[in-house]
Amino acid sequence: MRDIKLGDVTISAILEIERPGKTPEDFFIGASNQTAARHAQDMEPFLFDPDTGQIIMAFQSFVVRTPKHTILIDTCNGEDKFTDAVTWPTRPWLDRFHALGLTFEDIDFVLCTHLHIDHTGWNTRLEGGKWVPTFANATYIFSRTEYAYWENVANTGIVPPRQRDGVWQTNCLPIVEAGQALLVDGHYQLDDYVALEPTPGHSPGHCCVRIRSNGFEAVALGDLMHHPLQCREPDWSTPFCWDPLMAAKSRRALLSAAADDGTLLLPTHFPGPTAGHVRKTDDHFKFTFLDDE
Ligand SMILES: [Zn+2]
Repeated sequence: MRDIKLGDVTISAILEIERPGKTPEDFFIGASNQTAARHAQDMEPFLFDPDTGQIIMAFQSFVVRTPKHTILIDTCNGEDKFTDAVTWPTRPWLDRFHALGLTFEDIDFVLCTHLHIDHTGWNTRLEGGKWVPTFANATYIFSRTEYAYWENVANTGIVPPRQRDGVWQTNCLPIVEAGQALLVDGHYQLDDYVALEPTPGHSPGHCCVRIRSNGFEAVALGDLMHHPLQCREPDWSTPFCWDPLMAAKSRRALLSAAADDGTLLLPTHFPGPTAGHVRKTDDHFKFTFLDDE
């Protein structure tokens, strides 16, 4: 994704990796590969792996630079975590982070849309065998609902299907122990430019991040969507969703509002130019990447 100027704010992406995921049928509840193939005829070729039909997914963070703050939204898989270093290389993310002229100390706030493995990785780093906050000067903002849910999972040992145990212990708890966490309820206005807004379903406390400046508006979507197919089929949630029906409801509500007012969407897992706009077509939506407009 190219840097985006939104009024007084600059938004940049830090890509960790872009790669094929699964076929639509395997990735979405209730999806069929046949329906997906029909949609694909009218979609950008880089959204699908031509050999396997698997959806292509990006894993990335967004950096929002306002006149006052440098804000990091979601922190990918990180390093030394649960993922395989070969398939999840750490170097590209680090190099791209530094290429923006940033050091770890420059980050004022870290916002996690939710506390899954691929959105919290760089929250912490291993230092002398101990997990410590990567961004020493940052306040990390988590939804209290989300944090409490994963704390409970850790304490009971009952891990939801298809979720990874240990993420809260390594990526979240050390932040709270270091005194760098701010747990927030519901809608939270960080400053004049950036706010967290609850969009539950993918996880209990999932939030999107709304960015406003000089009349322009953008929303970082976290896992409200994983692929542009979900604009055309808004009811396709994933087996990773805590409440697939609630996830679809949150998705439809946000897409509907964004189609009406032209809000720029920043969907974490969309590959290529990533950012774009959505418009309404009957009961569905179509996504147009910024570079195609
Ligand atoms: Zn994700």
